[in-house]
Amino acid sequence: MNSVAREVATAGRELAESLSGEQLFVVTERSRAGEGAGKVLLVDGGEEVEGDPDLIAEALARAATKKRPSAILVGATRTGRIVAARLAAKLRLGCLSDVYRLRLQGTSIVGDRDVFAGKVVAEVKADLPCVATVKVGTYPMMSEGRTGLEVEEVGSLHRGVRLVETLEKRESTTDLRGASVIVSAGRGFRTKEDLRLAEDLAKALGGALGCSRPLSSDYGWLPEELHIGLTGVTVKPSLYFALGISGQLQHVAGIKESKVIAAVNTDRDAPIFQVADYGIVGDLYQVVPAILEILKG
Ligand SMILES: Cc1cc2nc3c(=O)[nH]c(=O)nc-3n(C[C@H](O)[C@H](O)[C@H](O)COP(=O)(O)OP(=O)(O)OC[C@H]3O[C@@H](n4cnc5c(N)ncnc54)[C@H](O)[C@@H]3O)c2cc1C
Repeated sequence: MNSVAREVATAGRELAESLSGEQLFVVTERSRAGEGAGKVLLVDGGEEVEGDPDLIAEALARAATKKRPSAILVGATRTGRIVAARLAAKLRLGCLSDVYRLRLQGTSIVGDRDVFAGKVVAEVKADLPCVATVKVGTYPMMSEGRTGLEVEEVGSLHRGVRLVETLEKRESTTDLRGASVIVSAGRGFRTKEDLRLAEDLAKALGGALGCSRPLSSDYGWLPEELHIGLTGVTVKPSLYFALGISGQLQHVAGIKESKVIAAVNTDRDAPIFQVADYGIVGDLYQVVPAILEILKG
C-alpha cells in the first residue's frame, strides 16, 4: 500500500469504529487499498484500473451497489479527487472534499476542511452514505501488513480510452519538503533560460530550487513537483528566498512555516514583503548576481 492509502486506511478505521456494524470503503488512487477492523473493504478492480479514474470509479460503483457501504473514503490526490467526484455522481451521493478529522454526527459524517488558504477551517457535513476525499498528511499511516482485509472482486471492466504512449515522468532532483534552503522563482523571471540565476543561487546556498505555480503549470518551465503553495508543496525550510514572486495568498499558504523568508521584488508594495523577514526592493537580474558575487568572495 502506498503512503496515501495507509493514511486513508487510518481515517477509515477510526470512522469504522464509530460506524458499528456498517460497511466502509477505503480507496486510493489505485483502488487497491483499504484494511482494518473487518469493516473496511478493499475494492479490487485488478491491475487494469490502475491510474484510470473512470475505471476506478466504475469498480467502486459496482462494489458499492452490492455492498452498500456507509462511506467511501478516497485519498485527496489528483486522481482521487476525480474518482470521488465521478463516483458520487454515479451513486448520487453527497461528496465531502479534502476533509480531515472525520467524525460521525447522527446520520451524517462531519469533517474539517481548510478554506481561504488555511486561514479558516470550515466544518462540512454530508448525510450517510457519502463519499469523501481525505486530505493527505492529516492522518498517521497505518502500519503495513495489518490483517482483516476483505477483497471485493468487481468483474471485468472496459477501458474507454486507448493508451497510445507512456512517457517517463520528469523527476525533480529534490524533495522540497525536506530542504533546509529553498530559492524560489516567480514570474519576475523573463525567460526559462534566466532561471539559471535562481539555480546558481540555490547551489551557492546549498539549497533546492522551487517556483510559483505559473512557472510550472502555465509556462512548463519547471516540473510540477517544484511548485509551492496551496495547490503545490508545503515547505518549511530554514531559509526561503523568493525571487520575483508577488506573494499571493495561494503561494504564501505553502511557505508560511518557513523560519526566515527573504524576498527580492521590484515592487515595494508586493504582498510578499508583508510576510518576508528580509526584503530587497530591486531587480532580481541585478540583485542575484550581486549576492552570488558576495557568496563567492
Ligand atoms: C485556486 C488557485 C490555487 C492556486 N495555487 C497556487 C499555488 O499553490 N502556488 C502558487 O504559487 N500560486 C498559486 N495560485 C496562483 C496565485 O494566485 C498567483 O497567480 C501566483 O502565485 C503568482 O505567481 P508569481 O508571484 O510568480 O507571479 P506574479 O503575481 O505575476 O508576480 C510576479 C512578481 O515579480 C515581480 N517582478 C517582476 N519583474 C521583476 C524583476 N526583474 N525583479 C524582481 N521582481 C520582479 C513583480 O513585481 C511581481 O510582484 C493559485 C491560484 C488559484 C486561483
